[in-house]
Formats: sequence, C-alpha cells, structure tokens
Amino acid sequence: MSRLEGKVAVITGAASGMGAATARLFASEGARVLVTDMNDEKGQIVAAEIGDLGDFLHVDVSCEADIAAAVSRAESRWGRLDVMFNNAGFGGARGPVESISEDDFNITVDVLLKGVFFGMKHAAPVMKAQGSGSIISTASVAGLQAGESPHLYTATKAAVIHLTKSVALELGQQGIRVNAICPGVVATPLAHGPLDADRRQKFRDRFGRYQPIGRVGEAEDIAQTALFLASDDSTFITGTAMVVDGGAHAGRPWHRQSEMMTGQGPIKLYRPEGR
Ligand code: NAD
Repeated sequence: MSRLEGKVAVITGAASGMGAATARLFASEGARVLVTDMNDEKGQIVAAEIGDLGDFLHVDVSCEADIAAAVSRAESRWGRLDVMFNNAGFGGARGPVESISEDDFNITVDVLLKGVFFGMKHAAPVMKAQGSGSIISTASVAGLQAGESPHLYTATKAAVIHLTKSVALELGQQGIRVNAICPGVVATPLAHGPLDADRRQKFRDRFGRYQPIGRVGEAEDIAQTALFLASDDSTFITGTAMVVDGGAHAGRPWHRQSEMMTGQGPIKLYRPEGR
C-alpha cells in the first residue's frame, strides 16, 4: 500500500528544489498534491508531471490571503487537508547589520517566518475538524547555528524551529503533528543559483568535501524526510526539528579534524601525569 494513499497535501515553494521533489514523491505515494508557488510557469510544469493527482495555485507565502486560498482550494477540490508543507523560501537580505533596509527586513521576515506561521494558522482548523494532520516546515541548520547564513535567514529559521515546537504543544491532543526539517547544504537553485550542469557538479564537489557523509544533500533527501513526517510511519513524532545534513551539524568531517583527534600526529595517547 502506498504511504500517502487517500491523503491531501499542500506544498509551498513547490515549483523548484525540495518542494518540487516532495510534490513528485508524495504523488508517487498516492497523495493528491496542491503545488503552490510564486513561479507559475515552473509550478504548472510540476503539477502537470503529477497528472490527475496534482493541481497548481499561485501563492505568495508573504500574503495571508494566498495561503488561505490554497487551503480552501485543497478542501474544495479534494475534501480534506492532511499535510501542510510550509517550504517556500529564499536567501533574504544579506550583508552587515547596518546595511539592511526596513524593506529588505520586511520581505525576508514575511517570506521566511510569516509565510510559515500563516500556513500553520490556516491548516489548523481544517485538521482539527478532521482530528488529524501533519504540518511540516522547512527550517535549516542555519536556525540551529549562527555563522552559516545571513543574519535574518539564520534568525527566521531559528524562529521557525521554535514556532514549530510551540504550535506542536497546542495541537498535539487534537491529532495534529507539527515538525520542522533542518536541511544542511542541498543542491538546489537557492544554494547554487541558476547554474549549468558543469557548475552544478563543481558546487557538489566543492561543498561535498565539508559534509561528514561526503556529499551535499539532494532535494530528494529532504523529500524523503517530508514523506516520513507526513506519513503514518511517524505518528509519535511531533515538536521536532529533524536535522538532515549529512552530519555537518554534528561537526567537521574526520579528514578535516586536527591531529589530536585523528591520531596522525606524534602523540598517540594522552596519559595523566605520572603514568
Ligand atoms: P529553491 O529555490 O529550489 O525553491 C524555493 C521555491 O520557493 C522556489 O520555487 C521559489 O519560487 C519559491 N518561493 C520563494 N519565495 C516565495 C514566496 N514568497 N511565495 C511562494 N513561493 C516562493 O530552493 P530550496 O533549496 O528547494 O528551498 C526550499 C526551502 O529549503 C527554503 O525554505 C529554504 O530556505 C530551505 N533551505 C534550503 C537549503 C539549501 O541548501 N538549498 C538549506 C536549508 C534550508
């Protein structure tokens, strides 16, 4: 039996990267999927690939009315909402703290935090009425550790993790699970830009060396995590921020550690004095 048979999902930022990979995987597991994105052309292509199980709606996640419309569309078309995947995102404002304008601050926070909050807000009543549902949001390892990404990106992703925990506590007894995914470096246009195949490979080679597992993440790695959190395989899991990063948040890969760690230096054993 398919893992999402009979379920209905709304995915934001589903025209590209992790969202698109998740839309395809969910549909292959039997879900009906509302593909939403600001990019109509690419979003419609993903929905068309899915065929009868898919539909597309233009959604700008910084606009509450758009998110409300997405939840309504899923309900009116398919009669329920089982999975809300708040995934849309972008790099946001960059640069030194004094260089960030109010407009840049607002657009960054609107997309990366407000968009997630309103996804939760509009999914909750439908899921409460059903007595079940899974809300998943894409945070980042940047939300766990500063220094990996621009100021507002790291701050909003940390807020998504905390919001996930807070809302999970509210909705748990109503059968609704709320979880976040914290990807590390994943080879999507957000991370490497619109590159040709050769440069994309160079990106993978360059950043793969920094991951303990020896490669960068692929959109499908995140899609598989979203599938687990969306499916009934994870019914006891809520309020988590699941790290999916090839081990990078755990620390440096072995080949990048000091001689003290790897035992390659002259000192093989540190003895207490006198022994
Ligand atoms: P991507 O650029 O391939 O996809 C992001 C999608 O979001 C695009 O289709 C874009 O059109 C859409 N989008 C952007 N702003 C939007 C808005 N206001 N409303 C609706 N759609 C909007 O990037 P991705 O890597 O697949 O990103 C997915 C999520 O993963 C994002 O939340 C991102 O912050 C997060 N993330 C990415 C990485 C990485 O290394 N790629 C790491 C950690 C977290």
